Amino acid sequence: ALQAADAVVDSVCPYCGVGCQLSYRVKDNKILEAIGRDGPANQGRLCVKGRYGYDYVSSDQRLTTPLIRREGVAKDPADIARVRRGELALSALFREATWEEALDLAAAGLRRLLDSHASGAASPLAGFGSAKGSNEEAYLFQKLIRQGLSTNNVDHCTRLCHASSVAALLEGLGSGSVSNPVLDAQYAEVILLIGANPSSNHPVAASFIKNAVKAGATLIVADPRRAPMARFATHHLAFRPDTDVALLNALLHVIIAEGLTDPDFIAARVNGFEALKASVAECTPERMSEICGIAPEVLRAVARRYASAKSAMIFWGMGISQHVHGTDNARCLIALAMITGQIGRPGCGLHPLRGQNNVQGASDAGMIPMMMPNYQRIALAEVREHFEALWATPLDPQPGLTVVEIIHAAYEGRIKGMFIEGENPAMSDPDLDHARAALARLEHLVVQDIFATETALLADVILPASAQLEKWGSYTNTDRLIQLGRPALTPPGQARQDLWIIEQLARRIGLGWHYWQTADGDGQLAAEAPTARVFEEMRAVMAPLAGVPWSRLRREEAVVTPAPREGEPGHAVIFEQSFPTHSGRAQLVPASFMPGPEQPDHDFPLVLSTGRVLEHWHTGAMTRRAEVLDALSPAPLLSMHAEDAAGLRLHEGQAIRMSSRHGEVEALLQISPEVRRGQVFLPFCYWEAAANVLTGSALDPTGKIPGFKVTAVRVDAV
Ligand code: SF4
Repeated sequence: ALQAADAVVDSVCPYCGVGCQLSYRVKDNKILEAIGRDGPANQGRLCVKGRYGYDYVSSDQRLTTPLIRREGVAKDPADIARVRRGELALSALFREATWEEALDLAAAGLRRLLDSHASGAASPLAGFGSAKGSNEEAYLFQKLIRQGLSTNNVDHCTRLCHASSVAALLEGLGSGSVSNPVLDAQYAEVILLIGANPSSNHPVAASFIKNAVKAGATLIVADPRRAPMARFATHHLAFRPDTDVALLNALLHVIIAEGLTDPDFIAARVNGFEALKASVAECTPERMSEICGIAPEVLRAVARRYASAKSAMIFWGMGISQHVHGTDNARCLIALAMITGQIGRPGCGLHPLRGQNNVQGASDAGMIPMMMPNYQRIALAEVREHFEALWATPLDPQPGLTVVEIIHAAYEGRIKGMFIEGENPAMSDPDLDHARAALARLEHLVVQDIFATETALLADVILPASAQLEKWGSYTNTDRLIQLGRPALTPPGQARQDLWIIEQLARRIGLGWHYWQTADGDGQLAAEAPTARVFEEMRAVMAPLAGVPWSRLRREEAVVTPAPREGEPGHAVIFEQSFPTHSGRAQLVPASFMPGPEQPDHDFPLVLSTGRVLEHWHTGAMTRRAEVLDALSPAPLLSMHAEDAAGLRLHEGQAIRMSSRHGEVEALLQISPEVRRGQVFLPFCYWEAAANVLTGSALDPTGKIPGFKVTAVRVDAV
């Protein structure tokens, strides 16, 4: 029987970038049920994560008191597996502490490293914030690192997901945002879905794309894996992994050679067409077919269909971005839309599907090493002077290091102290044995989180934080829609609000912050006023938010940005008349196919792609502790084509060992029709088989993103 709720709280899903609005029915500080609301991004729909994935919040593994590493207990990456397997208690590594003691120790360690840092020398400090946190947390976190720790070494998981897409979009169009919302799929005549598996990773977005196909849109899926959306496609281009540029250059070649471009649009709004034309002149379908493995006639048919559509929309995911040439991949997609004029109208444009619920907002808020809030470049004197005047602090003119660069610097002893809030690099970073060793080498690591994550197990101080369901905050989804999250529950034990924790550290470092005032409480219960104060400060330095005072967000629940004026709706479709570049025109940047560093050979003959599964979210910190979700998908499975398995004399369910040039893990084998011959797939959410032990840390030179989608591996029976 349905239990009567004490309250029904309207909020937003904590998982993916679709940003589904939902209501929680709450009783006795427990969630009874999550129900989809009629939000602009979800129209009442939820996927299994939003519907059933909320009980992580009341897991008995929640951190309920500050913890300090026991004296004399060294940091040992091997402890991660021991704790996870139940062979080592958390209390053997850490002792409980008061908030005063933990905050004092956390701040003193950061302050000591700051004071030891000679003026002009590279900073020994860095911070990783979280795209799972709110906009206000992201803004305050980057401000603490820049204003309090005097460095731009601040980054977050965007570096591991869409950094290359954003780099290409900023370079080409002057904005890293999507041009059109997901729901514009309903107006598209053709939808190109490339390197994305929204059925698992953005399920509600996938449902809208499927609806569009049912209503008559043509869907073209390009992906080495035969993921579920391929069933709805007129063409599934199962190209060879890592040959995106060859495939896309062939499409560009056909469109130009057959006169299918939009010359008026190019003349009015695009720079660099002649250079692109010269660059793809030799990329005939026949030549590119030899590289990407797609038949020339199919490449021609797809190019003609995309270019001749009245409206054509491109969605892409990590299959494009997580490559050492991810920026080149995205440059080709931008070129496709630009030379055909498929932008600036409903039902067309470019949409990199954002991963985390607030990865767009965290980037907008400046939690990236080269940009202040609203993508204002730190290297520009006028930008620095503006923020220096506002914050009354000199700012470091040097752009900071990115995620993987920070980990390398920690390994080499150049970074000595870190503050990590809600991020789990000890699962998410490439070449994980190296990354964990780097974190263990830090002289001082402060982790703020809701669980003793793999990263927290290497910390000096752990600060127990609040879950998304326990606090106020705004979150910006993949459509640039800023939405309101409300507290439904009280945090357990002594866990505190994240904004309160960040401010307490800032005050101890010497910043006179007063976002959180006495009347707002002691930081345990959610308080709206400090969240609104931070939001209003952020709004004052971010032009796209100018028309969204906190009161409007409170009233409307969701406002699409940019929303420059208060009395007007924001802009769901952008780039209608011009691009926010210096010239107002798009800039094409040609790319040539180059093989990546992870080539299969005799020792490592298969290509591993890592990714996500429907039931789990990123490193699994939340969903592996959500009962229904973990029951649905409880163990790491390596997907392999039946013929590859037969050739290796392996069978379904067998324990296997996967080895790469970087490490090895064990998992169970799953025979899957989704992967092509020569390719295997492993999700990265399972500590039991941490996929990133296998991946390498070579980076895209522009986006600084690792190539998670291509790792040469071998698979053997255990
Ligand atoms: Fe949450 Fe994304 Fe699922 Fe919506 S589609 S319920 S935002 S995980």
